[in-house]
Amino acid sequence: MKFDPFVLPFTVGLTFMISVLLYQYFRWYLLLSAKEKTIVRTNLFTKRTFFGFREIFSESLFHKKIFAKNRLLGYMHMSLAFGWFLLIIVGHLETSAYFGKAFEAPYVPIFLRFFQNEATHQTAQFGYWFVMDTILLFILSGVFLAWYKRKKAKKFGLGRATKHAIGDRIALTVLWFIFPLRLLAESITSILYGGGSYLTFGLGSLMEGTIANEHTFYFSWWAYSISLGLFFIFLPFSRYMHIPTEIGLIMLRNWGLKTEKNKMSCISQFELHSCSSCGICLDTCQLTTDLNSCYSQAPYLYKSVRNANLTDAKLNDCLMCGRCELSCVVGISNNNLRQSIRNKVSNKTESNLNYLNDIKLQPINKADVIYFAGCMSHLTPGIKRAMESIFKAASVNFSHLDQYESVCCGRPMMLAGMTKQALPLINKNKDLIAQSGAKILVTSCPICYKVFKEDYNLDIEVVHHTTYLQNLIDSGKLRLQKSEMKVVYHDPCELGRGSGIYEAPRQVIKRVASLKKTDYEKEQALCCGGSLANTILTSSERNILANAALKKMTNDKIHTVVTACPLCKKTFASAQKEIAIKDIAEIVEMNLIPMKVIRTKSKKVPSELLLNNNI
Ligand code: SF4
Ligand code: SF4
Repeated sequence: MKFDPFVLPFTVGLTFMISVLLYQYFRWYLLLSAKEKTIVRTNLFTKRTFFGFREIFSESLFHKKIFAKNRLLGYMHMSLAFGWFLLIIVGHLETSAYFGKAFEAPYVPIFLRFFQNEATHQTAQFGYWFVMDTILLFILSGVFLAWYKRKKAKKFGLGRATKHAIGDRIALTVLWFIFPLRLLAESITSILYGGGSYLTFGLGSLMEGTIANEHTFYFSWWAYSISLGLFFIFLPFSRYMHIPTEIGLIMLRNWGLKTEKNKMSCISQFELHSCSSCGICLDTCQLTTDLNSCYSQAPYLYKSVRNANLTDAKLNDCLMCGRCELSCVVGISNNNLRQSIRNKVSNKTESNLNYLNDIKLQPINKADVIYFAGCMSHLTPGIKRAMESIFKAASVNFSHLDQYESVCCGRPMMLAGMTKQALPLINKNKDLIAQSGAKILVTSCPICYKVFKEDYNLDIEVVHHTTYLQNLIDSGKLRLQKSEMKVVYHDPCELGRGSGIYEAPRQVIKRVASLKKTDYEKEQALCCGGSLANTILTSSERNILANAALKKMTNDKIHTVVTACPLCKKTFASAQKEIAIKDIAEIVEMNLIPMKVIRTKSKKVPSELLLNNNI
């Protein structure tokens, strides 16, 4: 058996790493629910597994998504990941070709040049030496770029590199040494005992008679082995845990598991440990770009949870706008994951809302449509008034869910992680909705819309007022005139990225105003800064975010911004006075054609309009 004491650091490190990984993965496996286990079992031997492997190749090895963002960054990641992978695979092939056995001890292919350096004068052997030197050069180019990126992040398309915790810093430093030390060991071996190709033999020749001698030969193999061993020992406690974990995450996703928003499930743990701290998402965060605040974004939050030093500010200084989620190259559901962490932290407190069960509210009138303005629309009453006028103009049989007495939808508490504690609010609202006998629930606030739609399990249709207005217009129940107004539309986070509603508001606006394009549309929309999900920001910081967003959207050329969220309206309007901020319902109301005008303009008024408007 081939053995030398210098292989021990590598072997100990590898054994340690595998043991910790198996222990961690087993703990996460126990978090799988029975339903999730069935999903995995059902999909294990299907083409989904093949798709999983394909994605592992394209994302974990080739880093296709990073390439799409920046080629240099993509090359850096690929040369390290794919290069190392090749080194292992080709090293194994070379070992079996040389020793004629399918398997050797795991350290033999890694330190092959130590155990085998005599030339057998077979062409294949020179070929292997050439290929292995080329792969090593490929990886070394990545190591150089990784070092250079820490100094010049902007050259790699990054506004800034992430700050490292101590464990990460040690692992990173060790990683930087691994491949130069391999080069050193193989080069000295090459010149003293033979073997190697253009790179290792070339460097060895330069060291001949100086550095290359019997002592440095042995020392360099020890140093290489120690660097590998240390890296393996630090890997499970550093950001490099993402290397093995991302593979598991990709497979779980391909087998059909999804991250839940209120629970630290098995897949949440995989996501938490799959963040590579690449920093790509930092530049999309308005806290970074507009407030120069960079400590609570996804990579920092995950790091603090992994290292058990989570703080209130790290957890809650986030708008949960979802912008970083779209840019995440690993596809981590940042919002759901942060929400689950908040839930885990906050769920220990008891609800103090149980008194709601005993409170009698005014009875809700029976109607076809029930309208929930929500707390924020009560604070921006123009929206509520506009919706009332619109309902009347379209002759909708509606009633209010919260006209005089308002029960919060529960979402603000849920955003703070208090899902369980918000249940009395949810149950109270459910009772009121049931009283109304309505078939449709209309909300003006996207925050309420999302919770009614996703968490209430209502058996009636839930629509945001943008979609409802579009339906009223499309079905001819509203008559509108097109004004001279030039506006830009601001997609509220919860309505756009949060609920995928992008087209309805645009269609409505185009009926009443001239809609101008901005660079911050749809998925790229900016947060207004008012987010209820952030409990740390001061009002002056919120104003900075709002003003920066308005400036980027309007370019100082457009003077009216239309939005579809009372919170966005209030935040933008409070931050400045130069730009008029309107809700979509308000501009629709402003452009309603009164029935009198219809009579004079049109010779024959459609009968359904006469009926609808009680003329
Ligand atoms: S959700 Fe928004 S505020 Fe929070 S870290 Fe991501 S981009 Fe920044
Ligand atoms: S959350 Fe995604 S994009 Fe952001 S640092 Fe982690 S892996 Fe990179």
